[in-house]
Amino acid sequence: MFHQIRRWACPDLAVDLGTANTLVAIPGVGIVLDEPTVVALQKGSRRVLGQGTAVGKLARQMLGRTPDSIVTSRPVQDGVITDFELCEAMLRYFLRKVGRRMAGLRPRVVMPVPGSITPVERRALRMSAERAGAGRVYLIADSKAAAIGAGLPISEPLASLICDMGGGTTEIAVLSLGEVVASRSVRVAGDELDEAIVEYVRRNYSLKIGTQSAEQLKMRIGCAAPRDQELTAELRGLDLVSGVPRKAMITSEEVRLAIAEPLEILLRNVHGVIEHCAPELVSDLADTGMVITGGGALLPGIELFFQERLGIPVRVPHDPQRITVRGAAICAEHLDRWRDALDDEFRDH
Ligand code: ADP
Ligand code: MG
Repeated sequence: MFHQIRRWACPDLAVDLGTANTLVAIPGVGIVLDEPTVVALQKGSRRVLGQGTAVGKLARQMLGRTPDSIVTSRPVQDGVITDFELCEAMLRYFLRKVGRRMAGLRPRVVMPVPGSITPVERRALRMSAERAGAGRVYLIADSKAAAIGAGLPISEPLASLICDMGGGTTEIAVLSLGEVVASRSVRVAGDELDEAIVEYVRRNYSLKIGTQSAEQLKMRIGCAAPRDQELTAELRGLDLVSGVPRKAMITSEEVRLAIAEPLEILLRNVHGVIEHCAPELVSDLADTGMVITGGGALLPGIELFFQERLGIPVRVPHDPQRITVRGAAICAEHLDRWRDALDDEFRDH
């Protein structure tokens, strides 16, 4: 009874602290927060602007167009915390924002993490979350949370292949009987595609564009496979020769060319994971195929690209960018039953 009241007053949370976006979900309620993993600071200081509120969406608006006195920072890189202090400040703000009636109680938190996370990185993450107001923190592999969120039958003796393409890392894993059987965490994901576009534009147009503009270009006309109708978009950048602003037009075909290399790297890594599986599991995959999640799954043609090159069915579930936090929320819902298994997965204590 006490537990029920406590859970009502202070529900368990799922917190997906991504390189690009942080999402919070409450079991039975849904997603209550979805904001960029960004903070804005006064230059030369470690204090978050706006008395700790220049975080997430607000800070994102400042990104790339700030006066010299303001800098924006992404405290999570390649899926792990790189700035402990800022990450804590950001999480504190987010947890406060979702904590309606917590009345001094600390929520238990389920957090998805890259499979490649080191013990030191894990401790930093736990400590950051606890200092930001979380109670007990339970870690779960990103790919497992994504598979649960996508409704894959991971507890059956049947292989499921998941590819979660976020901002900093792509997590590729085969799961069977509730365990990760083979996996790779690759530091090639959305950010890498943006950088490849910046590089292409620099080389072919002698224009310097920022990664923000490259990301927008990717979202507007990017694609991984030929489109029915190719699109064009305007580029605005700094002429590398004359040093003055200049415009140019770029086609979706060119953007596809620009991002071809990082996509090939991902493909090779998917092959690598499959090769590590027992033949029985590989034969399952011919039927079950691969599921792509994360923001990268929103790239048009990504299903076709992988399907043609892997020769197995490939599927992007609805709302792929929020699948991981939904999976973590399902874990949070069953926390009393699953917590021992979660504790075993990344044991530090
Ligand atoms: P993380 O879990 O690392 O925070 P997300 O799963 O939220 O990352 O994905 C963020 C990445 O998805 C970014 O690199 C972003 O550019 C990319 N992304 C978002 N929407 C699209 C889109 N429509 N097309 C291509 N890439 C996209
Ligand atoms: Mg993610």
